[in-house]
Amino acid sequence: MTQIGKKIIVIGAGIGGLAVARALALRGADVTVLEQAEAITEVGAGLQISPNGFAVLRALGLGEALVSDAVQGQAVSLRDYRRGEVLRLDLTLLESRDYYFVHRADLIDLLADGARSAGVKIRLLQKVEKVKPGERPSIVLANGAEIEADLIIGADGLHSKVRQALNGTLAPFFTRQAAWRAVVPNDTARGPEVQVHMGPLRHVVSYPIRGGRFLNIVAVQERAAWASESWSQEDDPLVLQSAFSDFSEDVQTILSKVEKVHLWGLFRHPVAEIWQGGGTVILGDAAHPTLPFLAQGASMALEDGWVLADALSDADDMKQALQNYQARRQARVTRVISAANGNARKYHLSFPPLRWVTQSALRLGGAFAPMRMMRQFDWLYGHDVTENNQLH
Ligand SMILES: Cc1cc2nc3c(=O)[nH]c(=O)nc-3n(C[C@H](O)[C@H](O)[C@H](O)COP(=O)(O)OP(=O)(O)OC[C@H]3O[C@@H](n4cnc5c(N)ncnc54)[C@H](O)[C@@H]3O)c2cc1C
Repeated sequence: MTQIGKKIIVIGAGIGGLAVARALALRGADVTVLEQAEAITEVGAGLQISPNGFAVLRALGLGEALVSDAVQGQAVSLRDYRRGEVLRLDLTLLESRDYYFVHRADLIDLLADGARSAGVKIRLLQKVEKVKPGERPSIVLANGAEIEADLIIGADGLHSKVRQALNGTLAPFFTRQAAWRAVVPNDTARGPEVQVHMGPLRHVVSYPIRGGRFLNIVAVQERAAWASESWSQEDDPLVLQSAFSDFSEDVQTILSKVEKVHLWGLFRHPVAEIWQGGGTVILGDAAHPTLPFLAQGASMALEDGWVLADALSDADDMKQALQNYQARRQARVTRVISAANGNARKYHLSFPPLRWVTQSALRLGGAFAPMRMMRQFDWLYGHDVTENNQLH
């Protein structure tokens, strides 16, 4: 591993930005993270970190700290919206048991502390307005200031300025699905499992976070009415409750506790074709936003961050390193995103006979071949991007 003696700007203090910042600083780079928000922890709800994402946190030396207040997932319970469990996926059968449910704010806190302690400078209230790839790439801030660097990393999420500079505008399309997300106090007796209640054109995902003291809820509905692609748009809890009023009592009970809820429109984006050029590069949602149906957004951003830092410390020529990074990541993220797209259809079957056949097949598979059921996830959860290169 060679030291990266470069001046690097990371745009965005989200999960991908903070992870790559720590990974690069630990390898000797001079890293500054620019974040538009005035604070980095206030918004967000629950996230799932699967073993492939956790491998990166562990390699960054942050695994133990994450585990202290996270919930270790033991199962995914797929349920009919009225009739109870259809299939139980036993997460303890995975090769690695490191499957965790966390609050996004806790993970961001952990990564921000980790980045700072590695020497990263995090600057808040720094909105990047323009990115200029080139011989000496630079960014222009909202206040007009222009800053140059050896490398500019766009970890700036869904509406990435760096993706736009590299690819032009790639118009996403509204999937006609909207998702509410909320966190409620958990006074249920349920164990450390994800429950997915599947109904016609709708489903509700819930799981415990913060040592089990809270439940994270994501409720998805197919609908004609447009909803914006935003993490900060609030909605009325009554709208959520009435959209799921025909779901079973356990779902009604947790939804009745919702006092504050956010609504976000689900859009399908193409994976960006160009990930790097003129001393700029993109990662995480900036390169490949995903629908939430495989819970891989955070884990993919972590994997990207690790691989980018690794590629940069592996090659003398930066351009070659950035090309290697894209080559190592593109096929995997494309596969993950198409698997997430497929899950949306599976959860929402609305034609009752088809629903019955599918659920019966799932039940049989789960009862007679639980191990085989879990092996189908090996390509996803068993992939460890840190395998040959640990920092600690
Ligand atoms: C506020 C917020 C709340 C979220 N809540 C959830 C949640 O509850 N559950 C879930 O599964 N996923 C949530 N996500 C998405 C999830 O974090 C990402 O899908 C995934 O972690 C990939 O992360 P990322 O680092 O690529 O992008 P993001 O997490 O989206 O981070 C991008 C960062 O870049 C900053 N940024 C964007 N543009 C600029 C700019 N021009 N100048 C400076 N900074 C900029 C943003 O403010 C943000 O901090 C949330 C994202 C955000 C931004």
